Amino acid sequence: MKPAPFAYTKARTLKEAVALLGKHKGDVRLLAGGQSLIATLNMRLSAPDLLIDINGIKGLDGIARKGKGIEIGALARHAEVERSPLIARYAPLIALAMPHIGHPAIRNRGTFGGSIAFADPAAELPACLVALDGEVEIAGVKGTRRVKADAFFKGLFETALKPREVLTAVRVPAADKNTRAGFAELARRHGDYAMVGVAANARAAGKGLADVRLAFFGVGDRPMRARRSEAMLAKGDIDGAVAALDLDPPDDVQASGAVKKHLAGVLLRRVAKQLMEER
Ligand SMILES: Cc1cc2nc3c(=O)[nH]c(=O)nc-3n(C[C@H](O)[C@H](O)[C@H](O)COP(=O)(O)OP(=O)(O)OC[C@H]3O[C@@H](n4cnc5c(N)ncnc54)[C@H](O)[C@@H]3O)c2cc1C
Repeated sequence: MKPAPFAYTKARTLKEAVALLGKHKGDVRLLAGGQSLIATLNMRLSAPDLLIDINGIKGLDGIARKGKGIEIGALARHAEVERSPLIARYAPLIALAMPHIGHPAIRNRGTFGGSIAFADPAAELPACLVALDGEVEIAGVKGTRRVKADAFFKGLFETALKPREVLTAVRVPAADKNTRAGFAELARRHGDYAMVGVAANARAAGKGLADVRLAFFGVGDRPMRARRSEAMLAKGDIDGAVAALDLDPPDDVQASGAVKKHLAGVLLRRVAKQLMEER
């Protein structure tokens, strides 16, 4: 299928992008990597009358250590994040997740910010952001604001981003020697969106774990924390964590909710082992 007609413009700076968004009265979308947006246009699931291409904006694609965190610019391509030594060292959970996103051609174009803004409930990066207790930086006509990941993802493809705002960067706490990361997903074929997945982060505390955060994906309308299981894992009780799994996945085209819940338990055992391993 072909998309409905739309106008196209390219923003050279963030200020220009925000001004264009503010000025245009109709349905407008930002174009980043286009790996999700173009498909929705071609399938006529969305029909904006203006696309603002943000790919030419300089300075939105950096990956940098900032204070106690790591900042990933919205336009950093998945492939750049995947190969970044800073990500490997200071955001190991994200490094574990990257190879599961689509295929190399998609990772060459798709952007970190695009994946967070699109908020597919089966996507890897939104779950990583929640597991890492990260935050999102947003620019709009009224200035910039920051939103914690737990508050950012609001529902099915729904976020705290307003239609006239630009997601500019994502920040996650930098890992240290006590950080433990775990990641697992099940997909019918490698590179497909996951049937079920989990991103996990914790701190080693003595022989146990503290600050355990489990964010499941593909099991609800957004990344889902499993708080009772987190508490059990902090006590070192893996069987208890699986029994306490506080998820209620809906049926979807991939599997029934009951199958998804069973798979979530299988994955939970895998990430529990990863979290408990010495680095
Ligand atoms: C075959 C295929 C397989 C895929 N498999 C996976 C997978 O397994 N896991 C996965 O997570 N993803 C997968 N993807 C999606 C891919 O990760 C996309 O790159 C990502 O979802 C969107 O990023 P993008 O840069 O392409 O955004 P775009 O497609 O350009 O934009 C997506 C949406 O986000 C908005 N947006 C983009 N950037 C910003 C911004 N900075 N501020 C505000 N709004 C913004 C756009 O307006 C649009 O509404 C797959 C895609 C394809 C085509």
